[in-house]
Amino acid sequence: MNEVPSTQPAPHNLADMPAEEFRQYGHQLIDWIADFLAKVGDLPVLPNVQPGDIAGKLPNAPPIKGEGMDEILADVDRVIMPGMAHWNHPNFFAYFTSSGSGPGILGELLSAAFNVNCMLWQACPSATELEQVTLDWLRQMVKLPSEFWGIIYDGGSSSTFHAIAAAREQLTELKVRERGLAGRSEIPPLRIYTSEQGHSSIDKAAVALGLGMDSVRRVVVDDRYQMNPQALAEAIAQDRRAGIRPFCVVATVGTTSCTSIDPITAIVDICEREGLWLHIDAAYGGAAAVVPEMRHVLNGCDRADSIVINPHKWLFVPLDLSALYTRKPEVLRRAFSLVPEYLRTGQGDEVVNYMDYGIPLGRRFRPLKLWFTLRYFGVEGIADRIREHLRLAQQFAHWVDEHPEFERLAPVPFSIVCFRAHPLGMDDTDWLNRFNEQLMHTINQSGEAFLSHTKLSGRFTLRLVVSHLRTDEMHVTRVQEVLQKQLRGLKDRF
Ligand code: PLP
Repeated sequence: MNEVPSTQPAPHNLADMPAEEFRQYGHQLIDWIADFLAKVGDLPVLPNVQPGDIAGKLPNAPPIKGEGMDEILADVDRVIMPGMAHWNHPNFFAYFTSSGSGPGILGELLSAAFNVNCMLWQACPSATELEQVTLDWLRQMVKLPSEFWGIIYDGGSSSTFHAIAAAREQLTELKVRERGLAGRSEIPPLRIYTSEQGHSSIDKAAVALGLGMDSVRRVVVDDRYQMNPQALAEAIAQDRRAGIRPFCVVATVGTTSCTSIDPITAIVDICEREGLWLHIDAAYGGAAAVVPEMRHVLNGCDRADSIVINPHKWLFVPLDLSALYTRKPEVLRRAFSLVPEYLRTGQGDEVVNYMDYGIPLGRRFRPLKLWFTLRYFGVEGIADRIREHLRLAQQFAHWVDEHPEFERLAPVPFSIVCFRAHPLGMDDTDWLNRFNEQLMHTINQSGEAFLSHTKLSGRFTLRLVVSHLRTDEMHVTRVQEVLQKQLRGLKDRF
């Protein structure tokens, strides 16, 4: 039989860190963060480390006795900093950037201090109601209609997963929630449509929902990388003839590779005619609609069933915060609500229990950092910053267009420029692909800037993303100099 613990008093202090010690190190850490944010631009964007370098500096077993905060904080400098890729660096031009803004960081800090689990309204009324209110603010900022209801998930992939799950739940007669899909030969194969440029999170959702990757049909794009709506209509008709059941379309406002915008209005018409759930992936591009003259990017989205916008991409909110809006929260709830006895409360429909609308039961107090960020910058402040990013991207695109040895590879509807080096007289595609890949690695290894890539029409494409809060004209000019310098050097060696 297992022994129960002794009833003797514990031999040492079992309390948390004393308030005075917390205050001392809290102040010290805030000072450290303030200095870091002020000087991050002087650090290399990417670290110069090999796999295992960081783990090799860490003990391979946990400390048996507690350690002092002085030692722990010293190891942040000694062990952690040398392996940091600085996403808060103004020369971080890769992927889709994410800005840890000052107010967002402070909101995150407070959220950690409260440490509430906002699964139920009752579990923290302030957290639930702040989520409702801040998401409604954001909805107004991008001019979505008031019937759109919002929920925060950790990322765009989760938001899209939940939207596709709701789309499937809308096929009520299939009773997938109760009976699943496995072994049910009476259910036809189900189909999701997205463009050739749609994000991989759509395929992942199909995998996780038991639909399989073959359930995602990729619709061709035009020469601007936008979904061809005629091809979508034909694909749906062809599938129906083949006994496949279309149920969802995912259209994108700001595709990952080149930020193309699918023709939403034409796609909505098709979805309404065909009775399909339309989910809009505006994880990156949706933020631009805060700028009045960019509102058109969401034209037609008011008629969609759901839309995702990621404030952690281009709204200066630190990771992780994605907003999913839907006009049919009751369908999402039907897909996921499951209330065991120990989570029953006395409140009825006058409150929202966010646990009913997704996989996660436990939920962090994420809306605090959204609230701090929206209040600190204000709608105009955010719009001004996004507008400046749009201007800088156009300026960079113009530089590429004018340069004899660089060329642009896609339109620039937002703040991402797709381009490549094209040295005079060098027209072989394979050679250009290898040359551009090497150029990117050389720049990234220099620590001066971080660019990422994609492939467009078989061409290795460099992507320059201008959407970081700390990136200004000086940084964009500087990356042009770096590109020219490294191009000259590489031409001599390659
Ligand atoms: N949708 C688009 C267009 C994206 O570019 C991304 C990620 O970059 C996602 C969805 C997934 O978002 P997350 O990384 O927050 O899961």
